[in-house]
Amino acid sequence: MNVVDVVVKHDYCIGCGVCSGTCPSTNLCMDWSSNGELIPYAGDGCKENCSICLDVCPFYDHPVNQDDIADFLFRKTPDINHHEYTGYYLNCYVGFQEDEQKRLKSASGGLATCFLVSLLKEGVVDNIVAVGIAEDRMYDHKILKSPGEVYECAGSAYYPVEISRILKVILEEKEDESYGIIALPCVVYGLRLAMLRIPKLKRKIKVIASLTCGQLQNRYCTELLALESGVRVDEIARMDFRRKKKGNMASDYLQVAIDLDGKEGTPQSNHGLPFHLWHYHYFKQNSCNFCDDVFGELADVTFMDAWLEEYMDDYRGTSLVIVRTPLSGRVLEGLSGHEVEGIDIQKVIQSQMGVIQKKRVLLCGKLYKKETIDMWYPKKRVKPDPQIYKKNKEFIDLTDKIQSLSKEFWREHRLDPSTKGFWEDLADSESQIRAYERKASLLKFPLKLIGKFREVLQWPKTI
Ligand SMILES: Cc1cc2nc3c(=O)[nH]c(=O)nc-3n(C[C@H](O)[C@H](O)[C@H](O)COP(=O)(O)OP(=O)(O)OC[C@H]3O[C@@H](n4cnc5c(N)ncnc54)[C@H](O)[C@@H]3O)c2cc1C
Ligand code: SF4
Ligand code: SF4
Repeated sequence: MNVVDVVVKHDYCIGCGVCSGTCPSTNLCMDWSSNGELIPYAGDGCKENCSICLDVCPFYDHPVNQDDIADFLFRKTPDINHHEYTGYYLNCYVGFQEDEQKRLKSASGGLATCFLVSLLKEGVVDNIVAVGIAEDRMYDHKILKSPGEVYECAGSAYYPVEISRILKVILEEKEDESYGIIALPCVVYGLRLAMLRIPKLKRKIKVIASLTCGQLQNRYCTELLALESGVRVDEIARMDFRRKKKGNMASDYLQVAIDLDGKEGTPQSNHGLPFHLWHYHYFKQNSCNFCDDVFGELADVTFMDAWLEEYMDDYRGTSLVIVRTPLSGRVLEGLSGHEVEGIDIQKVIQSQMGVIQKKRVLLCGKLYKKETIDMWYPKKRVKPDPQIYKKNKEFIDLTDKIQSLSKEFWREHRLDPSTKGFWEDLADSESQIRAYERKASLLKFPLKLIGKFREVLQWPKTI
C-alpha cells in the first residue's frame, strides 16, 4: 500500500511532494491532477513492505502527532512557553524590513526574507529553499545560494508548489551542504516526519521556517482570477499575488496577472473577487479542511501578517514572528537596522482568530460529517463534534459543494475566452451563497451593536 491508495484516493493530499522526494524506488512522480492540484502518481516499482511514503505524509496517521514531535524538538529548551493554539514559543516579534523597496516586494513586512538572508550571510546554512518563479510550473520550491536570489523570491505564492525535486537533490548530494527551508505548516510536518525517518535529511536541514497558513486554493483559482482580469489561461506567465497599493489598507493589496509578453491584466482588489472565492472555499484544496496547524508548530520560526487593528492602516505591510529556538531568536534579534520589537503572544493569536476558528472549531464539525459517511479520514488533534456540525451545517455543506463544483466546472470552462459559462453553471450555488451572506450579516447586526455599546461604555475586549 502507498500514499496513492489511501491519501490521494480519499482526496486528502495537499501535494507537498515529501513522499515523492523520499521514495527510495523513485516510484512516485508529482504531477497535476484533473482538479488543478499537484498529486503523486505511482508506477509499479514499490518495494515489498516499504511504507516510507506513508510514514512521511502529513495527511496519514502516525504513532506520533505534531504535539509529540513538538515536545521532542522544543520542550526542553530553557525558558520555552506553550499555548494550545501556537504550540511552543520562546518569543514573539513584530516589525518590518527597513529598505522600502524590499518591503514593498515582500508579502507583509518582509521579515521572512530578512531572516533567510541572515541565515546565509551568517553562515548558519549554505543554501536556502524558498518559493519563486519556476520555469515549468509558474511557482515552485527552489534552492538559493545568494542573498540576491533570496530577495528575488520574496512575496507569497498562493499557488500549489511541491518539494520533491529539492529533497531528491538534498538526498543525492554530498553530506556537507546544509539547508534552511521555508514552507507551509503541512510541508513542515512532512519534513519533520521525513527527518525522523531519514538521518541524512536530519543532518542536512538545519533550520525550518514556516508561514502561518489559512488555506491553499488550487491552480484553477489563479486561472479564474487571471481570465477575469483579461489574461487567457493559455497565456498566463505568472500572478503577482500581493501588489501593495499606497493608501489602501494592508489587507487590500492587488492581485495582478501577467501574460507571456509581460502585459498585465486589470488589477483586482483582494477585498473583491479574491476574498469572495477564498471565503466560500472556491477551489480550496480538500486537505486544508482537515488541517489543524495554524502556526507551523513544528518550525523553528514562523512568519505571518500582522492582521491587527494597529497595523492595518500601513499599506506597506507588517510581519509578526514566533520564535521557537535560541538560534532563530539570535538571528532575528541580530537583524540590525530593521524595525523589530517584542510583542505579546496574545496579540499574535488575536491576529489569526479567523483561521483558528476554522482549524480548531469548524474542523470538529467537518470531522463529524466525515464520520457519518464512514470513510477513512486522517486523525486530527481535535475530535469530531456533532454539536459544532449542527450549528455550522449550512456553511459546511454549502462550502463543500462550492469547493467541488468550482473545480468540476472550471475544468470544463478554463479554455473559454471568458468566465461567463463558468458563472452560469455556478449560478444556483452563487445565489445560495448570496442568500447565506445576507442572513449571516443580519445575524451579525446585534453583535455589531453590542460592540458599539462596548466602545461607548469602555467594556474590556476579551479574546
Ligand atoms: C498559501 C498561504 C496561506 C497563507 N495564509 C496566511 C494566513 O492565514 N495568515 C497570515 O497571517 N499569513 C498567511 N500567509 C503568510 C503570508 O502570506 C506571508 O507569507 C507572511 O506574512 C510572511 O510575510 P513576509 O513579508 O515576512 O515574507 P516575505 O519576505 O515576503 O517572504 C516570504 C517567503 O515565503 C516564501 N513563500 C512564498 N510562498 C510560499 C509557499 N506557497 N510555500 C512556501 N514558501 C513560500 C517566499 O519564497 C519567501 O521566501 C500565507 C501564505 C501562503 C503562501
Ligand atoms: S506526502 Fe504530501 S504529496 Fe505525498 S500523499 Fe502525502 S500530502 Fe500528498
Ligand atoms: S491549510 Fe494546512 S494543509 Fe492547507 S496548505 Fe495550509 S498548512 Fe497546508
